[in-house]
Amino acid sequence: MIKKKIGNGTFLFFPNFLNYKELIHAISTRHSGVSSNNYASLNLSFQVGDEDDNVKENHQILSQTLGFDLSSLATCQQIHQDNIAMVDGSYLKKDCFLPGNAFPETDALVTDVPGITLMTRYADCVPLIFYDPKTHTVAISHAGWKGTLLHIAQKTVEVLVKDYHCQPQHILAAIGPSIGPCCYQINSTMADQAVKELYKAQEHFVKSTNDDLYFNLWQANKKQLQRVGIKDEHLYSAELCTSCNFDLFYSYRKGKKVTGRFGALIGLR
Ligand SMILES: [Zn+2]
Repeated sequence: MIKKKIGNGTFLFFPNFLNYKELIHAISTRHSGVSSNNYASLNLSFQVGDEDDNVKENHQILSQTLGFDLSSLATCQQIHQDNIAMVDGSYLKKDCFLPGNAFPETDALVTDVPGITLMTRYADCVPLIFYDPKTHTVAISHAGWKGTLLHIAQKTVEVLVKDYHCQPQHILAAIGPSIGPCCYQINSTMADQAVKELYKAQEHFVKSTNDDLYFNLWQANKKQLQRVGIKDEHLYSAELCTSCNFDLFYSYRKGKKVTGRFGALIGLR
């Protein structure tokens, strides 16, 4: 990914999305912001024990730094399922970044409305972002262990195709920073689940020298996207581990469950 210092913050960008001037997109990091201790310092979640006022101020810093309208930022109450919300023009200026206004029980968002920015929040799960330059539609999905097994990557593309008339061969997709195969240890129950739910799941298992089993979430999501027709040249994977880069990202495992969340964002200007 391309790392840029903007203001006091550090943001990462996907090279395959940067050519499109009509887009705003970024992965935020811990840098800048006003939260402290485990949440230091740009925590974007109201649901992890941080002070609401700090989280609100962090959102203001984020919108000012990246240059989007905070009142038109759409977020969702992520529950590790596969519900996908279509965000229409009625959500402009509705403060959907606040917990009471966020899309309930939703793990992916899609819009073709200029002015709306979509954001999902992360600490180890996989951010997936999408853009179809033909129909000017953007999407974002939260694909952790459960989301990956529920095929949320594939289902998001299916909504783009069915409801927004996108063609898979035109869609650009990116896989953001998340826990990597270096750190994501799974147990035998999880391995069995993966084998049951995913096509050729064994290809995503990594065995350590002492026979511990690790899982490659990046590759599992990449395979899903390839299987629904996303072209290799339109697919970018950050291959950045949140646990290995705890100075830059929040990590649920490295932070021993008490930690903040960074954001993945995409929207049409
Ligand atoms: Zn790692």
